Amino acid sequence: MSAPDGSDEGGEIGRPESSDHGYSRVMTTISPSAERTALDAVPTQLFIGGEWREASGGGTLPVEDPSTGETLAEVPDATVEDGKAALAAADEAFNDFRHMPPRDRGEILRRAYELMIERVDELALVMTLEMGKPLPEARGEVLYAASYFRWYAEEAVRINGRFQVAENGASRVLTMEQPVGPCLFITPWNFPLAMGTRKVGPAIAAGCTSVVKPAKQTPLSMLSMARILEEAGLPGGVVNVITARSSGELMEPLIRDARARKLSFTGSTAVGKKLVEQASDQLLRMSMELGGNAPFVVFEDADLDLAVEGALLAKMRNGGEACTSANRFVVHESVAGEFSRRLAERMGALRVARGTEPGSQVGPLIDQAAIDKVKELVDDAVGKGAAVLTGGEPLGERGYFFSPTVLGDVPEGADLVREEIFGPVAPITTFSGEDQAIAMANDTEYGLVAYLFTENVSRAFRVMEALETGMIGFNQGMVSNAGAPFGGVKQSGYGREGGPEGLREYLETKYVALNLSGRPAAL
Ligand code: NAP
Repeated sequence: MSAPDGSDEGGEIGRPESSDHGYSRVMTTISPSAERTALDAVPTQLFIGGEWREASGGGTLPVEDPSTGETLAEVPDATVEDGKAALAAADEAFNDFRHMPPRDRGEILRRAYELMIERVDELALVMTLEMGKPLPEARGEVLYAASYFRWYAEEAVRINGRFQVAENGASRVLTMEQPVGPCLFITPWNFPLAMGTRKVGPAIAAGCTSVVKPAKQTPLSMLSMARILEEAGLPGGVVNVITARSSGELMEPLIRDARARKLSFTGSTAVGKKLVEQASDQLLRMSMELGGNAPFVVFEDADLDLAVEGALLAKMRNGGEACTSANRFVVHESVAGEFSRRLAERMGALRVARGTEPGSQVGPLIDQAAIDKVKELVDDAVGKGAAVLTGGEPLGERGYFFSPTVLGDVPEGADLVREEIFGPVAPITTFSGEDQAIAMANDTEYGLVAYLFTENVSRAFRVMEALETGMIGFNQGMVSNAGAPFGGVKQSGYGREGGPEGLREYLETKYVALNLSGRPAAL
């Protein structure tokens, strides 16, 4: 393994997404002045009603580079008054925007998609600086984020109702799909751009307006998105972005405000539960994209090459800081030794370095609290009998780096089998029969995604039907795709993002009973 400032090339994570997602790009050295230029291009103000402005209280909060701990920029610390102004702007803009021709809404999204593609390198650099992920991964996220704008640009003109003859033959059933109204969006730091576009894209397509509150660690990507939407011709007030030090204080009054009609949240289950309570005041429409504890199940008949490759991707995409990250490896006892050895070899060879360094494959975790939590989980597992096959420790003298870690023989009682690790740690547990594998996979309050590796199609369908998750990766280590319904069950939340399902989250169905017979309606 190489240290954060080490120079050996290490192994490859592989190409997590299709080649147009940019993972195969050769990286060059990024100069400090290129970093400064990219940061200076980000509008570091609140975006309210189509105007860029400072917080009314004049406060700011710093944005830190997790690989150095240095401050990159200051963004406004919005007050409740600013939040209310943003919601008022979204409410006012809704009256017109809901009537904008669908084709025009689609064209704005298409232009925004194209601008993101044109600026992929600048957007990726800003993302790497504020969040830490290696540049090729940041580039992949920008393209992935943009793909939601492209997908929903195409969907905006495909919003249909239906017309049907009622059972009695006399009346007609007419339904229309109308925009929900002003929405509140709260997004996490781990995918600073994509978690925004996959809400904003379908909202714009449906004719909804919004107030977006990004995570305080990574506001720059979302502010850049707002600038792009502005340049793409989005009318003022349709999307508003507010940043703040205390999200709870800023957002609760908005969630309880009658002008808001929907809340879409991506983040931890603990915060999601709090927000669901607050949203019950107005009975807001809700989408909750919450935490996960993904099992990665490898059967004895799996193609081990495919499984190891898939494991590396499912575990190490975003350095393990993903809700879809494989949190537990559930491997048949007859192949567990071979699988563990090969995974440890690949994980141990990954190059850990600041995300802007050539060849970096694993960046820093988001902050010191993340390092402390991952270390505590590893120590707990080792204390209960797990074997460290590679890694196990924080790395480097500054920044928040942790070595890619594989733990073998992990007992079921270890805390990291139950809790979301959110770091580069792969715990391996074993099973001896299919029913046991299914029981182990489902033994969690979460239900976001599961990964399944087998060459036996009958078994694959049996297991897929039995898994209690919203998504399954079958013989592949990732599921993200703008055209597919992303979301979970159980305490991983409800609602779907992406695909036609993602658009429905922003539409209300209105039904009209039509009497065309000229006689009084009867049952
Ligand atoms: P988090 O602590 O729940 O924060 C997420 C967002 O909620 C941030 O913008 C945060 O703002 C805000 N927030 C925190 N407390 C709040 C409150 N009381 N009221 C209103 N907003 C509040 O989660 P995180 O640590 O950023 O993100 C990691 C979590 O997100 C993991 O559990 C991961 O699994 C989950 N996630 C889920 C999905 C999915 O699609 N299912 C995707 C990505 C991530 P501040 O930054 O100001 O605290």
